[in-house]
Formats: sequence, structure tokens, C-alpha cells
Amino acid sequence: MASKFTTMSPEQTEQAGMLLGPLLRPGDVIALAGDLGAGKTHLVQGVARALGVDEPVTSPTFNLLLVHPGPLPLYHFDLYRLEQETELEDIGFYETLEGDGVSLIEWGDRFPRSLPADSLVVAIHRIGETARCFELTWGGPRSTALAAEWVCACNNMAGIS
Ligand code: ADP
Ligand code: MG
Repeated sequence: MASKFTTMSPEQTEQAGMLLGPLLRPGDVIALAGDLGAGKTHLVQGVARALGVDEPVTSPTFNLLLVHPGPLPLYHFDLYRLEQETELEDIGFYETLEGDGVSLIEWGDRFPRSLPADSLVVAIHRIGETARCFELTWGGPRSTALAAEWVCACNNMAGIS
């Protein structure tokens, strides 16, 4: 099963992230797929804003993981530069995903076998200069519920369809 919505600007993508933030619970895992410039980081910025993160949120391309503490900690991964799946252990990937926060993983599709079964996978497709299609797939009860709630919230928001 898959579900979709479209944004027409970077601001709308951030808004979509702001709608996702309040739906999240400890242990949720969101994998973000899409080329450079798709809008993965913009989406995370919206989530971060909703979670009350007030420091800048940038792609953790060189750090692999940036932690934004808060009532619901945000673990922001970027696996672009990770060469081997075994390196995930070195960066504490598996413990972090099971921890007290939510994990958003840019390039999370690079090592699909390393994702928990109940992850929400968000593939972002560039369909125009500033248009992006968000295609959601899920693998268990929690990600199913999250996808449904998020798409519903986006559909109720003017501009996002
Ligand atoms: P990624 O993390 O996927 O590499 P970024 O979020 O860093 O992507 O950058 C997305 C780029 O695309 C930014 O330059 C942004 O201004 C542009 N952009 C244009 N339209 C959109 C949109 N609808 N959603 C998100 N970004 C968009
Ligand atoms: Mg990025």
C-alpha cells in the first residue's frame, strides 16, 4: 500500500513536517528517500520546529547523526556518506532507533534491511521546479497509523493535496 501528497514550495514541505511533528511518539522511525535537493532536510526542519527545536537544522551529511534534545528528542541521520552497513553499529544506529526519541533518516533507503519493519518510508519525488510528490509506504501497525494521520492532516491543509 502507498499513499501520496504533493507540496508546491519549500515552505509547504516545512508545513508538512510541522504537521507530522505532533503525531510522532518515542521510537518512531521515518526513512527519507529522494535525490539531493528533493527536500528531505526541509521536511525535517518542519518536524524540528513542531518539536520545539530552536537551533538550526541542517543535513548531518558529515556527522551522520545530529541530536536535537527536547521533550521528544529528534535524531536526525544522514546516511549519504556511509559506505557500509556495518558502520551503522559504530554510530549507534540501532540503539538510537529504539530509544526515547524519534529518528528521521535522510537516505534511509540506502540500507533498507537495517530499518525496523515498522518504519514509515517517505520517498520524495521532484515533479516540477518547486513541486514535490511525497510517496509514503509503511511496514507495520504504527507506521500504518502514522501515515494515515499525516496524510489526513496534509489533506486538510490548504495548498497541500
Ligand atoms: P535534501 O535534504 O533532500 O537534499 P533540501 O531540503 O536540503 O533537500 O533542499 C531542497 C531544495 O529544493 C531547496 O533548495 C529548496 O529551496 C528546493 N525546493 C523547491 N521546491 C521545494 C519543495 N516543494 N519542497 C522542498 N524543497 C523545495
Ligand atoms: Mg539533506
